[in-house]
Amino acid sequence: MINGRPLNADRQNAILFKLMTYTGREHRCGTTQRYVSTGTCVHCARLLSAEKREARKVLRAQAKAEAASITIILDDISAETITAFMGEDPINYDHEAALDSAEHVVAEMVDEELAEADRFSQSIDDIM
Ligand SMILES: [Zn+2]
Repeated sequence: MINGRPLNADRQNAILFKLMTYTGREHRCGTTQRYVSTGTCVHCARLLSAEKREARKVLRAQAKAEAASITIILDDISAETITAFMGEDPINYDHEAALDSAEHVVAEMVDEELAEADRFSQSIDDIM
């Protein structure tokens, strides 16, 4: 605490000056900067969102690699097999389109997983 003011004065001042953060009670991570709106620890919130960004990147890269390997399998199937199986002209088979749709499906699965993770961390934030 600076100047011996009560802790809440920092938040009051921050609200007054329309600041995003104020100096609050020390969090278990050892920092005191908190968001005015929610009172959550700035340090931990930033750490968490950076982790989420990284996780998203890794999952997206995995999704891309997975989608690519699926379409490589499709490419390996001979045109005759596709024709026999689908009863369609294999000339219509478009590798890029197949890759796009496979990526799209996997990306949607990733988004669902991340949304679930977001809901989970939000419920932790509510407890803090
Ligand atoms: Zn913290």
